[in-house]
Amino acid sequence: MPEGHTIHRLAARHRALFAGQVVRVSSPQGRFAAGAALLDGRALVDAEAYGKHLLHHFDDESTMHIHLGLYGKFADGDLPAPAPVGQVRLAMSGARHWLELRGPTACEVLDPVQVAALRARLGQDPLRDDAEPRLAYARVVASGKPVFALLLDQTVVAGCGLIYANEVLFRAGLAPTTPGRDVSVQCWAELWDDLRALMKEGVVRGRIDTVHTAHTPEAMRRAPRVDRHGGEVYVYRRTGQPCLVCGTAVTRGPMAGRNLYWCPVCQPSE
Ligand SMILES: [Zn+2]
Repeated sequence: MPEGHTIHRLAARHRALFAGQVVRVSSPQGRFAAGAALLDGRALVDAEAYGKHLLHHFDDESTMHIHLGLYGKFADGDLPAPAPVGQVRLAMSGARHWLELRGPTACEVLDPVQVAALRARLGQDPLRDDAEPRLAYARVVASGKPVFALLLDQTVVAGCGLIYANEVLFRAGLAPTTPGRDVSVQCWAELWDDLRALMKEGVVRGRIDTVHTAHTPEAMRRAPRVDRHGGEVYVYRRTGQPCLVCGTAVTRGPMAGRNLYWCPVCQPSE
């Protein structure tokens, strides 16, 4: 599933392609036909991301809410738009560009009250300037759940996905099993700042790299990592491979229904 940096990249792209323009909106597949009819011919005011949710705001205060889920995918290009092929849920075109969306978990029109409710149930998004990490910390320290599960809980930290959650805990030297209630204010502040910095870099690069300069392929004279799930990382999908810091085999285990990866030496449990 795309992590928050991907959704923020999409929001910026859609803003650049369509904001301020009257757009044509349709649903070639039909499943979003009623919603598309509400938006067709309106002006798109802005696009923004909140965690893994994408919001397109229109001039009548309606908002198109999209969650890609596991299979959702956008395509776009210069007009003229190609004829829709297959299951195109949403097709949009502006003055010069077209956009298509296939396979999202959610594609719906919300009113301002519904948008407010969506935001209220989401946690703090490290990529947003209006994020309040202390509100996320209040949820963390009140919980006995492992910090790994709390990072992935979208009502605590919105936009953090599996790669960032695994990697930020490695970089902090923190055991993923550490209960939220044992995470100090200082530790949380460091985790948050690191996560924010990594995710911001992800927005710029369009891929996730988490290794420090000393552990890049060039610095270590090793071959670059080849994995369709991201760039240079410490533990994510590196089960059995040597830790880039200490050489211990990276371990994998299930936690909170997700794949947890960690180095038992660099991230000791108490
Ligand atoms: Zn290690």
